[in-house]
Amino acid sequence: MATTRRLTADDAAEAGALLASGKLVAFPTETVYGLGADATDGEAIARLYAAKGRPSFNPLISHVTSLAAAEALGRISATARALGEAFWPGPLTLVVPATETCAVSDLARAGLGSVALRVPDHPVARALIEAADRPIAAPSANRSGRVSPTTAAHVLADLDGRIDAVVDGGPTAVGLESTIVALLDDAPRLLRPGGLSRAAIEAVLGRPLEEPLKDEAAPLAPGRLASHYAPTAKVRLDAEDIFEGEAYLGFGPDRLGLRAKAVAYETLSASGDTIEAAARLFSCLRALDATGATAIAVAPIPDHGLGEAIRDRLARAAAPRG
Ligand code: AMP
Ligand code: MG
Repeated sequence: MATTRRLTADDAAEAGALLASGKLVAFPTETVYGLGADATDGEAIARLYAAKGRPSFNPLISHVTSLAAAEALGRISATARALGEAFWPGPLTLVVPATETCAVSDLARAGLGSVALRVPDHPVARALIEAADRPIAAPSANRSGRVSPTTAAHVLADLDGRIDAVVDGGPTAVGLESTIVALLDDAPRLLRPGGLSRAAIEAVLGRPLEEPLKDEAAPLAPGRLASHYAPTAKVRLDAEDIFEGEAYLGFGPDRLGLRAKAVAYETLSASGDTIEAAARLFSCLRALDATGATAIAVAPIPDHGLGEAIRDRLARAAAPRG
């Protein structure tokens, strides 16, 4: 990657244009510095995971500038609206069912039917998202396993040379990540404590926040999903042959001629590019699953680049389940 450009709060229009063209731009929010990418662009999201060096695909929070913009992406119930009106802009993330037309990419949602939404309260973040004119995924702007950055210098210490730009807007105010509340069933559930207190949220709800569910889309702890997107068909990894009734998910050139033997075929990346493969992972699994094939045989995926995260996700899809 080229050198990381240093931008200031005056460069919001330029930074927004970079985001809109698929580039990675770190910027301040009121919580911590986020590493922004176009949430609707699967390949930009794949590059974001690569820059952070994340070994797995967790769902990301999409940042928008208004409740109205959130409504285009997620189903906003009366409860969600009450919380949004009380605390947006601010350090509250709502996990809600995605709309039919939700523009947030499969990869940013880790294949889930829900979407995490937030309206940040920082002039630079808002100006950038407005200029980009699309939802911006922005996990903390640090290498995987390091602490969240609260200054542009922290961001550069971790990501210089790995991202396209950083917008220096001074130190962030909260320093804690956003509080995450799931509104996916009858009960509002606290998925992650953060910059907005439980008491403040419960005062608006008029009821206590419940524990996360231990099933679909409920993290056991921040960053750990108890369940995850899994196809109905069985998934068989490192396939070197195709069995009766199997679909084939390829990667790289089809040297063994397996495509012809399969009942259905998709390729993660014909050229063997792990960024393209990550961006296509969930949509390929979905497409093959929809054919009704009994199993999906998956070509070997290399360990380099995003290969590790792709393999991690496929291994979970392949794990026995009850
Ligand atoms: P961050 O790293 O601050 O962007 O926070 C991302 C975290 O938000 C994930 O690790 C999950 O804990 C949570 N999250 C995001 N999207 C969802 C979702 N669709 N369902 C459940 N949890 C989510
Ligand atoms: Mg983080």
